[in-house]
Amino acid sequence: MEFNGTYRMLIGGEFVAGSATFDVINPATEEAIASAPDATQTDLDAAVVAARKAFPGWAGTPIEARKAKLNALGDAIFANLDGFTRLLTSEQGKPHHEAQGECMGAGYWLKAFTALDLPETVNEDSDERISITRHVPLGVVGAIAPWNFPMILAMFKVAPALLAGNTMVLKPSPFTPLSTLKFAELAAEILPAGVLNVITGGDSLGPWMTAHPGFDKISFTGSTQTGRRVMASAAPTLKRVTLELGGNDAAIVMPDVDVEKIAEQLFWAAFTNNGQICIATKRMYIHKDIYEPLRDAIVAYAKTVKVGDGSEQGTQIGPINNSQQYARVLELIQDARDKGYTFLTGGEKAEVPGYFVPITILDNPPEDSRIVQEEQFGPVLPLIRFDDYDDVIARANASDYGLGGSVWGSDEDKAFELAQRIQSGTVWVNETQHLSPLAAFGGMKQSGVGVEGGLEGLLEYTATQTLVRRKKAAFVS
Ligand code: NAD
Repeated sequence: MEFNGTYRMLIGGEFVAGSATFDVINPATEEAIASAPDATQTDLDAAVVAARKAFPGWAGTPIEARKAKLNALGDAIFANLDGFTRLLTSEQGKPHHEAQGECMGAGYWLKAFTALDLPETVNEDSDERISITRHVPLGVVGAIAPWNFPMILAMFKVAPALLAGNTMVLKPSPFTPLSTLKFAELAAEILPAGVLNVITGGDSLGPWMTAHPGFDKISFTGSTQTGRRVMASAAPTLKRVTLELGGNDAAIVMPDVDVEKIAEQLFWAAFTNNGQICIATKRMYIHKDIYEPLRDAIVAYAKTVKVGDGSEQGTQIGPINNSQQYARVLELIQDARDKGYTFLTGGEKAEVPGYFVPITILDNPPEDSRIVQEEQFGPVLPLIRFDDYDDVIARANASDYGLGGSVWGSDEDKAFELAQRIQSGTVWVNETQHLSPLAAFGGMKQSGVGVEGGLEGLLEYTATQTLVRRKKAAFVS
């Protein structure tokens, strides 16, 4: 495939340039790198019509044939890995090694998901009747993705939706549309026309989709604030929704860890992808017995980390992805400065082009501070001292969010016991952010509705149908 700077939507198997375009910015330079089509409502209507037309054929295709197509899509990403990696770095900002990891993950997700099947349950098989419950596709899925992991989070939706026999209209974030548009070129070669349509546009396109009567389901990944709007907008037509939303994950570090050995791992729990991960550690509770040495070890490691343009050799942390998020992170830092909290590193704006924020670590800000209570989604981490497990669990759970969380300790059983008391969709012990296509992933409380991944995630793209067949009915001759 050519990575030649041409970006078009895919609607019903045809490439569509759109009647208008918008600029896509490289966050490391603040320069426009390409333009993407700005879909109109007519483009959206055409994509929905194409997806609906393709639905009976795709739903009627044997599941093994659908799996073969998903495998081929995954292989095609791997075959174009270098192009996707460079493109993703240029539009998202993340360093090359992370961009490559994300693209490989996207290919892997499509392929690994094919291990799953749609189960059938025999409820009764008697002399009188046979009753079977099965899972059938819903129809047309509207998929809306965010900018932090544009490739893999789109595949979180494509893989289960298409495997289950649905067709899709996929919309990436306007900040990171390019890699998804290139993925659409692969889809055009591999999938029947209309099975996967990709459209791009500005702030109106998402709300047009969620209100559109032609969708049977909306699968959304983004902020909790937008998730509420999506749910409200989907309600009048009772569309199914899966909402993967924001988080404020707590890490709890027990006093028996080896401080020197764990510092680097804990740093990356918070700062991978510049902190722009829904399941990044966003507040780190450290036991009082090791608070000072671990704090110092994390700060010492932070000072060795190279922040810069993700396309440059050696860069470990790139810029914030976009100007809105940049402004939000700076606002949270300013609030912490205004309140007089102690900064261990950072706390200043970087005076260079690009949306760069220096690694910022805060020393024990109050529990009710904004930086502890809100999702920062950037390179700012509060370290917080605790001395009592019941108290720290209560603090970890005192949030409207419930996405992830982690417990770290040498006493693995104690750590596991604490993990079970955290009210989040996923809790890790002695690691973090490990996700699998074969495991359910989702948020409790206001971090989401429903799950992606695993059989549970696959079934969210289906309707449950029970078929009952009477045997030897009296009138059957
Ligand atoms: P966002 O909510 O601003 O945007 C997400 C997507 O929704 C984009 O494609 C956007 O164009 C679209 N959109 C915006 N307004 C809309 C509306 N009213 N109706 C429909 N669509 C609309 O989120 P973001 O800033 O792109 O992503 C960051 C957020 O996403 C963070 O809160 C993060 O925690 C969350 N996130 C969650 C997960 C998860 O799996 N739970 C994964 C990644 C990111």
